[in-house]
Amino acid sequence: MSGTSIKRLHVEPLNSALEEPFVIAIGAIHQIENVLIAIELENGVVGYGEASPLPPINGENQATVQATLHACETYLLGKDVGAYRTVAAEMKATFSVQATARCAIEMAMLDAFTKNMGLPLFRYFGGAGNQIETDFTIGLGSTVRAGEAAKELAARGYRVIKTKVGHGLAEDIERMVAIRDGAPACRLTIDANQGFTAKEALEFLEALERHGIRPVLFEQPVARHDLVGMKFVRDRTNVPIAADETVFTAADAIRVVRAECADIINVKIMKSGLVEALDIVTIARAAGLRLMIGCMLESRLGMSASAHLAAGLGCFDYIDLDPHGDPDAEAFTGGPDFLEPIYHLRDDSPGLGMLRKPKSAG
Ligand code: MN
Repeated sequence: MSGTSIKRLHVEPLNSALEEPFVIAIGAIHQIENVLIAIELENGVVGYGEASPLPPINGENQATVQATLHACETYLLGKDVGAYRTVAAEMKATFSVQATARCAIEMAMLDAFTKNMGLPLFRYFGGAGNQIETDFTIGLGSTVRAGEAAKELAARGYRVIKTKVGHGLAEDIERMVAIRDGAPACRLTIDANQGFTAKEALEFLEALERHGIRPVLFEQPVARHDLVGMKFVRDRTNVPIAADETVFTAADAIRVVRAECADIINVKIMKSGLVEALDIVTIARAAGLRLMIGCMLESRLGMSASAHLAAGLGCFDYIDLDPHGDPDAEAFTGGPDFLEPIYHLRDDSPGLGMLRKPKSAG
């Protein structure tokens, strides 16, 4: 290709306040601290990528992501975005565990590559559909607040509500009942973020059953490396089990298939990068597993990449791409239109379709 090699690279922190702390079983997040990378090609096209490190999940943070991106600057300069797979493979060979940083680079390269072709990213991924419907997550927190939130979400059009569990059996059950009562028509999914032992997970499902609640999926009931425990749970319930923290790589997906420990794999581009996400999807589909797409705390920019991937591939049964930030505080506009609870992918803007807002003073 001509003019499509990387001429300049720009890295900066992308911070925004969370309205309320996002609490999961293994940690609380108070502020979104992401990283933006912009790459400019010889022909002037600019591609944007975002890294959203979630330290308790992937061990990266804003400082390590920025260091990784700066460390590979010399390597990236002069690379052709038309060979993004080669770059992704070489980056993985060196920065094997820095998946979030690598994801930002792949995102920026794919954005620039498809912009250069005049093609929206979801079309490049296959154009299976142009809209996806997301759930919304209610974090760990007070029962009363969870019930109110569920009612609000149902009124806003959400049909699937996800909630975090794994803090304490009684408290979790109470919160689930409040959510069910607040939004009786919604399907419920639960995510323990590794917070249970296998036996506790089953006790929890039995207790839910006694309250007439049957979740449509149960995400990561046990510790990420406990495939035996996950299979123990899966063998003893009809509720589909989803592997999230257990699967960062395609090799992890193969282990899950072999262990027969999950019904669903939750793909997140911040765990695997965009390129390896495609491999995970292929393995899951070939093995007859279903697919979920999730997110960390991406801004509109990173979320758009996942929306393009999910719409373009069209094979995700569970979409968990609920935005977290205040849209007015976002650094970017454009991308898929989000009319709760549906992302509408647009054909009139190439690449991710994102536009950088002018920086406000102060
Ligand atoms: Mn999860």
